[in-house]
Amino acid sequence: MDGARDPRSDETTEQAGKALAASGVAVRAAGADDVVAGVPPRWVALPETAEEIAAVLRVSEEHDLAVVPVGGGTKLHWGAPPSRCDVLLDTCCLNEVVEHEAGDLVVRAQAGLTVEALAEALAAKGQELALDVPVPGTTIGGLVATAIAGPRRFRYGTVRDLLIGITVVLADGTIAHAGGKVVKNVAGYDLGKLFTGSYGTLGVVADATFRLHPLPPSRTWAAASFARPVRSGPGGDASEEASAPEAVRLAGELHAALAAAAGSQAEPVAVELDWPDVTGPATVAVLVEGAASAERADAVRALLGPEARTVGERPGWWGRLPSAPPPSRDGARAETDAGRDEEPPAGRGETLLELRASPSRVAGALAAVHVTALETGTPAAVRGSAPAGVVHVALRADAGRTARFADALRARVEAADGRLVVLSAPPEAADGLDRWGRVGALALMRRVKERFDPGGRMSPGRFVGGI
Ligand SMILES: Cc1cc2nc3c(=O)[nH]c(=O)nc-3n(C[C@H](O)[C@H](O)[C@H](O)COP(=O)(O)OP(=O)(O)OC[C@H]3O[C@@H](n4cnc5c(N)ncnc54)[C@H](O)[C@@H]3O)c2cc1C
Repeated sequence: MDGARDPRSDETTEQAGKALAASGVAVRAAGADDVVAGVPPRWVALPETAEEIAAVLRVSEEHDLAVVPVGGGTKLHWGAPPSRCDVLLDTCCLNEVVEHEAGDLVVRAQAGLTVEALAEALAAKGQELALDVPVPGTTIGGLVATAIAGPRRFRYGTVRDLLIGITVVLADGTIAHAGGKVVKNVAGYDLGKLFTGSYGTLGVVADATFRLHPLPPSRTWAAASFARPVRSGPGGDASEEASAPEAVRLAGELHAALAAAAGSQAEPVAVELDWPDVTGPATVAVLVEGAASAERADAVRALLGPEARTVGERPGWWGRLPSAPPPSRDGARAETDAGRDEEPPAGRGETLLELRASPSRVAGALAAVHVTALETGTPAAVRGSAPAGVVHVALRADAGRTARFADALRARVEAADGRLVVLSAPPEAADGLDRWGRVGALALMRRVKERFDPGGRMSPGRFVGGI
């Protein structure tokens, strides 16, 4: 994407600008800080209500303006860059808790409310939204639109599971509600499910209603390290021939530990894998919360082996996306948590992949990452909820190696009925990178897009096939 604007006359642009200004919504000219994945918008709109979002979208329809919603702006580089962007619709002024029914464990919050602000309001009533979002500034709308989930997906599910109602504004300005306290439903569609993971391509999320959980009285983690899989050759180089069987052995060991913890009667709420460099050691960490969490975590620790330990504080890496190991081949990497609890990837030259496999095939998927890293000479980090079948893979390499890594890993993962998608890639690696791989539901996605956004103006081009 070269960031060029689509050609249209100054007069047309001026008319559209005037119409936006007359809409009654705060609108300003876009600046350098408003660029979306290399694409500069013309205006930034700052609506304060769903009705104001609708006013912006109606003007945008009349003047054929492309609209990209933004919340905290932490993941605007995820997905393909939009093919055009006239209006950046910033939800920062929609930042209220609309309703918190503590007795029913339900909250309705506006899209621009940050997850921290929501957590604070809920904690005052001893409740929480059971997603472990570690990134400051993340908004409710961004959370729904990107559909990332953290460690406790293992017990509580993902955004999609916890979302029970939604208000959205469609491309033509229609305000639609689903679930929660229903006012109007769009017939035949489960709006909450459709908009979860939609990256702003179907419309704008105005507010979301979630199921809550009581804050647990205590939390304890059990963790164990597993030795590195690689037999190093002279000079520390690892050859695939020497290490692939070791990778399979380690992946098997990890899988056994993860499965034992996941099936434990201690009822963990999360079972996570952290493998900061797939040619080095890995950690399995398990969270037990609620009554007698220390005793129950002790039972899990026993399952993880003699070296395992329990800790009262969450590991620094917990719930964070992985960061790529440095691009060296010696496998050396700091073993401490120092520096690892900083804000991860966010377009710092790293590529972030999401790997999904059936839980019974996780061992094979982990071994596949290791073998692919060696084969392509690309160090990689893996982290995620392996027993739930979802891990993230981070790497930092030049464009050619990144594409080779993604293609080779995808071939292995898809052969075992898994999926691999590229969540984000630096611009220099993006060309020639197949972001999506095999997409079975493309025809269905197109029909949904046409139904919700027939003019193709909502975050156009973010998804596969130009959707
Ligand atoms: C448990 C958990 C752990 C996470 N861990 C990490 C981590 O370690 N590191 C990390 O970097 N991230 C992590 N994330 C992702 C983090 O939550 C993102 O920052 C968030 O999903 C994006 O929020 P945002 O407000 O910054 O969205 P933005 O960056 O503003 O937007 C992201 C996408 O959503 C669209 N969008 C935004 N708002 C709306 C709306 N109202 N309607 C429609 N579309 C909209 C945008 O157009 C864009 O495509 C984690 C998320 C979870 C749930």
